[in-house]
Amino acid sequence: MSYAKLELQKLVPGYAKNGHAAEAVELFKILAMKKDMEPDSITLRAAILACAQVGSLDLARWMNDYVTISDCRNHVFVKTTLIDMYAKCGSLELAREVFNRIHDKDVVVWSAMIVGYGLHGCGEEAIDLYYEMRQAEVRPNDVTFLGLLMACKNSGLVKEGWKLFHSMKDYDIEPLHQHYACVVDLLGRVGYLAEAYKFIVRMPIEPGITVWGALLSACKVHHHLQMGEYAAAKLFKIDPYYTGQYVQLSNLYAAARMWDQVDEIRKLMKERGLSKNFGYSLIEINGKPEVFRAGDSSHPRSEEIRKELVDLERKLKEAGFFPDSGSNLHDLSSEDILESLCNHSERLAIAYGLISTPSGSTLRVVKNLRACVNCHSAIKLISQITNRKIIVRDSNRFHHFEDGVCSCGDYW
Ligand code: ZN
Ligand code: ZN
Repeated sequence: MSYAKLELQKLVPGYAKNGHAAEAVELFKILAMKKDMEPDSITLRAAILACAQVGSLDLARWMNDYVTISDCRNHVFVKTTLIDMYAKCGSLELAREVFNRIHDKDVVVWSAMIVGYGLHGCGEEAIDLYYEMRQAEVRPNDVTFLGLLMACKNSGLVKEGWKLFHSMKDYDIEPLHQHYACVVDLLGRVGYLAEAYKFIVRMPIEPGITVWGALLSACKVHHHLQMGEYAAAKLFKIDPYYTGQYVQLSNLYAAARMWDQVDEIRKLMKERGLSKNFGYSLIEINGKPEVFRAGDSSHPRSEEIRKELVDLERKLKEAGFFPDSGSNLHDLSSEDILESLCNHSERLAIAYGLISTPSGSTLRVVKNLRACVNCHSAIKLISQITNRKIIVRDSNRFHHFEDGVCSCGDYW
């Protein structure tokens, strides 16, 4: 297939914007291979953003190498996008390397690195960097604070997050809906549900889906059925066709083992023509991305993967792991149970990673949905049994599994 340069320049951002990140990157590669075609900075930036969305670290490295020799290599906004890309592809170290190499850092550069730390739940690193930024006399903006609040909520730094949120007014920054949602998450995480509710009703702007969704999610974790139902009612009022709240409410009922209500929600979703997304996980081995779906047996090494899964399951049992089949069967946000619990897409990807990489190397998996409780517990133990670092990016955040624990502290 041959494309003219102008066509490609337009297609890359077009594909990227419409959720076809992998295709955008593929088209960009065609453009990059043509010797007489230097992509403009807008196309380049779109390609880097698409790369971040795909989440593959090998691809990110390729993109970085490409930028180093391109005419746009000194554009600060291109470099800033590289920080974001590396963070989203799971490597804060490489993100920090790019960050360190930028002279004259403006607020966008500082914020990109702070957001990166936020995404990975590195609260202290984010706050340290923020103080460094202030020492360099750079004024924070709303993105800086969003990164800080994300970092605090993802690492449970309630006091620090609360203080930072209130310091926004010192810089005349009006908190946006996302900032409020972070605070609700922050309070909800540690079980301050009444405080979170009080905070919501006092908000100067109308609370929307993410704010009520954060409260509902906290209610699920802390088994607060009544407040959870209240938050869900608010969500249904705002958007009866948004799938998220059905999943969340169903999880709340599942945690309380109220299976009739769970089935009720399933029926309602069906009636309204809503369906949950299909889950898939991506792992990259030697530069080749492999995508697995739940129960997938189409992979050429499927037989070896199955053996590894059986072996892992036996080791998990020996280590005292028993999956909670009840809640999992009713967990609408996770994938369908096709054969058994150990067949969720991230488990297939991890099993494939284990048999395809040298022992001790880190596994990086990107998943399109949030991980289910069982897989999360299983991966913690797998990291310990196999002595591997396993980094999973789900739809919400990063999980760094190591030595039997996860960086999210089991709150996601
Ligand atoms: Zn699962
Ligand atoms: Zn986790």
